[in-house]
Amino acid sequence: MFPSMFIVGDVLVSADILTEYFACDIEACHGQCCEEGNAGAPVSQEEASDIERQLDAIWPHMSATAQAVVEKQGVAYTDPEGDLVTSICHGRDCCFRGPRGCLLRERPISCHLYPIREKRLGPDTLALNYDRWSICKDAILRGRREGIHVYEFLREPLIRRFGQAWYEELEDIARHLPDMG
Ligand code: SF4
Ligand code: SF4
Repeated sequence: MFPSMFIVGDVLVSADILTEYFACDIEACHGQCCEEGNAGAPVSQEEASDIERQLDAIWPHMSATAQAVVEKQGVAYTDPEGDLVTSICHGRDCCFRGPRGCLLRERPISCHLYPIREKRLGPDTLALNYDRWSICKDAILRGRREGIHVYEFLREPLIRRFGQAWYEELEDIARHLPDMG
């Protein structure tokens, strides 16, 4: 048996990111991850400031409810777990979801990386976990059908977040998993 976590650079990576299959099937799920849940998407302070700078451009495309929420509390708020997250309407759907998908010119990295979630375990320790959510069941079926693992589906956001060399190290570990049993 191989370990349940691997260290890649200075990041702890849950093994199921390498072993489980996943490939979003938007036709089937209709991007429900932007509309479900009880909190917004995690954002950094810099990302929240960037959303503020985009507000004039996206304002006409936001719903009246989303405009009212953002006018009242801003583009982000701190959730009960202490994380800064995007503002939501009706206690569930992200204010920046437009009729044809995300209104932002670049998705926050947490959205781009989903279903991988970052968790800071200490000042120098970051862990990546595979977040399982029932609304993504079609992504598991498509991933299995097409033989795409979580880390392969998320190649682009992982490189955006951690760099090319880091991703290649991750790929190398994944390639050697069969040797570990
Ligand atoms: S920021 Fe965009 S991608 Fe992220 S939850 Fe909101 S609408 Fe979806
Ligand atoms: S993360 Fe889940 S809900 Fe969101 S687009 Fe992918 S499969 Fe659909």
